[in-house]
Amino acid sequence: MVAITAAEPPGGVRPKLSAGQVKTKRAATVADSIVADVIARGWPVGQVLGSEPELLERYGVSRAVFREAVRLVENQQVARMRRGPGGGLVVAEPTVEAIIDATVLYLYRAGTRLDEVFEARMVLEDLVCQLAPSRCDETHLAALQQVLAEESAGTVTDHRALHAVLAAATLNPALGLFTEILNRVTTLYFGSMNSVSPKVGEASRLAHVRIVEAVAAGDEGLARHRMRRHLEAEADFIQRRRSTRMALDPTAVIGAGRGAKRAEEVAREVFQSIVADGLQPGDMIGSESELMERFKVSRAVVREAVRLLEHHNMAAMKRGPGGGLFVSAPSVLAVTAVMALYLERHGIRISDIFEIRAGVELAVVDLAVARMDDASEARLQECLRWEVEAPDEEFTSAAHDIHMQLAAMSGNHALELLSVVLIRLTHLHERENLSPTAVRALGVEVSRTHGAIVEALARGDRQLSRHRMSRHLSALSGYFR
Ligand SMILES: [Zn+2]
Ligand SMILES: [Zn+2]
Repeated sequence: MVAITAAEPPGGVRPKLSAGQVKTKRAATVADSIVADVIARGWPVGQVLGSEPELLERYGVSRAVFREAVRLVENQQVARMRRGPGGGLVVAEPTVEAIIDATVLYLYRAGTRLDEVFEARMVLEDLVCQLAPSRCDETHLAALQQVLAEESAGTVTDHRALHAVLAAATLNPALGLFTEILNRVTTLYFGSMNSVSPKVGEASRLAHVRIVEAVAAGDEGLARHRMRRHLEAEADFIQRRRSTRMALDPTAVIGAGRGAKRAEEVAREVFQSIVADGLQPGDMIGSESELMERFKVSRAVVREAVRLLEHHNMAAMKRGPGGGLFVSAPSVLAVTAVMALYLERHGIRISDIFEIRAGVELAVVDLAVARMDDASEARLQECLRWEVEAPDEEFTSAAHDIHMQLAAMSGNHALELLSVVLIRLTHLHERENLSPTAVRALGVEVSRTHGAIVEALARGDRQLSRHRMSRHLSALSGYFR
């Protein structure tokens, strides 16, 4: 099973489920099956997977469960329900803009600080400079030279352009997407680079020239060194500026719903009021009729606005007595599911995934080891226990918990996000690459290694933790070949 939708918290906490939770869990399972089906068919955009009655029959669930599943796959941009004759569940095309918007909004809502973003950028750009020198071909080189020429002529003011072309030269689709997201988030803290002084702009331009020089020469070490110096200078400059704060207008990312202008405005106003009134996750915003009254709009418009808010994971409507629209907690699980599926759609390979996992998870280990305390050790031990106790069919899912837990313990929202996307993608690829017998045989070995990593972390031994994690990840990537 491709458990991409199941939004269970890591850490092995498995309480008894209420009736509502059972329904949600069923819906997540159906959504996973739909996703698996779309992937197995080769993601045929526009193809009808089936009408509602056909799919109800196929999955053997109630209409209520099915509709919740449809909402999940719609939010993940995998498929969309089309009404009318010839309608049904239609395979959709996820857009990179929507993915980036959703991610930026998540990082904003999670309260990500600028230093976290920079830490994550350092990790990613270091990976880019490890890979680009050996993979960059003449087309990439020409594109890099083109950007440098434009920077020199002053016709390119977008500082991100060079970094985007470098990331593309690694031929790893996840590095391209991640770099773009973090670059965009960075600019949200200090506005456009237009406000930068000529001296700083010139220093940055020269740094770009020297980085490209090293990449063209195939000198990985030099490229990494120069990139590091470049980012440190930028971080230094940005942090000295008084205006450095998350300057995002979060309402700007509520995308355009077709022909739903008024609904979009309502969604923005609701979100603005969440921020202005300091509403917390779980706080009630209002009932459906209260919202109709407050915004002087029809029920249909309120429902469309709610759909947008739910899509962005900002609020959710609860039905029934005491129901209404409630503020949602920002969810790393929801946003990473969308990112993982987007990358899957764009043909990411298991080798691409492990290439980045090594860099990201070693950075995670560095941060987690510095923050270890009794409570975090207990959570890791809980993950280890669950790995041993989990039934066979849940073992691979259980084995990822410890990596998810470590990512959360890093205290860096940006790195956690990247790490979770990569873990989810690994999980997606297990089904096609590993037989159930292979998984069981691996289980003992993997659990033993996880135990050794936790032991090193608990001792506060950073080097040993890194060493064990590094060996573990390279062994894992070997199993997938
Ligand atoms: Zn730069
Ligand atoms: Zn592992």
